[in-house]
Amino acid sequence: MQHWAPSGTTTLAAVIGDPVRHSRSPAIHNAAFRALGLDWSYVAFEVPDGGAAGAVAAMRALDIRGLSVTMPHKAAVAGLVDELTDVARRLDAVNCVRWEGAALVGDNTDGAGFVASLADAGVSPADRRCVVLGAGGAARAVVLALAGAGAASVAVVNRTASRAHDAARLAGAVGSVGGDAEIAEADLVVNATSIGMGDSGEFPLDVGLLGDATVVADLVYQPLVTPLLAAAVARGATTVDGLGMLVHQAAIASESWTGVAPPIDVMRAAAVAG
Ligand code: NAP
Repeated sequence: MQHWAPSGTTTLAAVIGDPVRHSRSPAIHNAAFRALGLDWSYVAFEVPDGGAAGAVAAMRALDIRGLSVTMPHKAAVAGLVDELTDVARRLDAVNCVRWEGAALVGDNTDGAGFVASLADAGVSPADRRCVVLGAGGAARAVVLALAGAGAASVAVVNRTASRAHDAARLAGAVGSVGGDAEIAEADLVVNATSIGMGDSGEFPLDVGLLGDATVVADLVYQPLVTPLLAAAVARGATTVDGLGMLVHQAAIASESWTGVAPPIDVMRAAAVAG
């Protein structure tokens, strides 16, 4: 690969969050920029809770051309940009910001990234009975995207019932609050809780409920093969890991900044290494 170093003409993109030092986003985005031969660089800024307004002002002042937004700023940034995409408005959460002329546009690419990761595995949610475990920010993005992709039903299963109702509403007429019965009948089950992260060894559901043909996706990507995915593989199920969503949401953001579609395989390799 051609040597590259930042110079006076380099265009900057960045992620804001706290914590953010562990983020794989710089590795993923910089790998894409290098593969495309773009004179762009992507860095991480640790911005504590309450600091989003300063960060968005800095994006304007410094002409930062692309911004990723992670916890705890996704809701705050939705109130700081000039325009929101329909998805970001419905989720009231922004995970990336781009320029359109002189306006900052807040978008949320998590759900589209998830659906793209399903497509990589040859899975389409269209006309499928889907169950989403969890009702946090990631789950809400997935619920909205599954409904938008034509799912037959989207049942939300969550520890806190009120949050399950709120998330299910995002799916409109096909949304509901579900339980074991919906899991047992599902074509697609998505873990969007944080259960399974690290070495907890925990499962977000009773694996015995899963049908033989159920596709199982996990948004958790640390470890890459969660206890849930390992159990699903052992049952012969098609599985989708969380790194695909991470890479695709970044790829959609990157294209919105640079105008060029980045290479997914290069980004995924960087995510695995990172
Ligand atoms: P969040 O807003 O904090 O939501 C966490 C969800 O997990 C809530 O629904 C919560 O239930 C549930 N939960 C947590 N601990 C639980 C437990 N012990 N028992 C039952 N339910 C439990 O988090 P988030 O931002 O949505 O992220 C969720 C997961 O997705 C995280 O692991 C995150 O790393 C992952 N993620 C992955 C990607 C990707 O690109 N692959 C993107 C975003 C997030 P309550 O509502 O009852 O509290």
